Amino acid sequence: MGDCIFCNIADGEMDTDLIYEDDKIMAFEDINPKAPVHILLVPKKHISTLMDLENEDYSLVGHIYKIAAKLAEEHGIAKEGFRIVSNCNEKGGQTVFHVHFHLLGGRQLKKMG
Ligand code: AMP
Ligand code: ZN
Repeated sequence: MGDCIFCNIADGEMDTDLIYEDDKIMAFEDINPKAPVHILLVPKKHISTLMDLENEDYSLVGHIYKIAAKLAEEHGIAKEGFRIVSNCNEKGGQTVFHVHFHLLGGRQLKKMG
């Protein structure tokens, strides 16, 4: 088992129920949900932060948004609304240093700011 939790999940070294998986990304429920629907969408490739994305990685981000919309639909939150968040580095609130996107919904989310 390596140091990175999300790499361990991608490698199957850590047993986690995947909601969605393809060759590039995976999605699973956040272990500490902040909303009735709280799904993490994660590239299988290890990229530490949003600042470490390379040109070839940006298509992954678009793909993640596409699958997030599909999962929002499947979880019944597409019409009422949801939020996608990606935290970067300490002051952005990032705690797992493997890029991921939070899909949050199922309650009224507070206005930002
Ligand atoms: P962030 O704080 O933006 O880096 O988000 C990391 C998220 O990963 C947090 O919301 C954690 O609750 C979640 N998390 C950490 N370990 C696991 C795990 N093993 N399975 C599912 N979610 C996890
Ligand atoms: Zn990783």
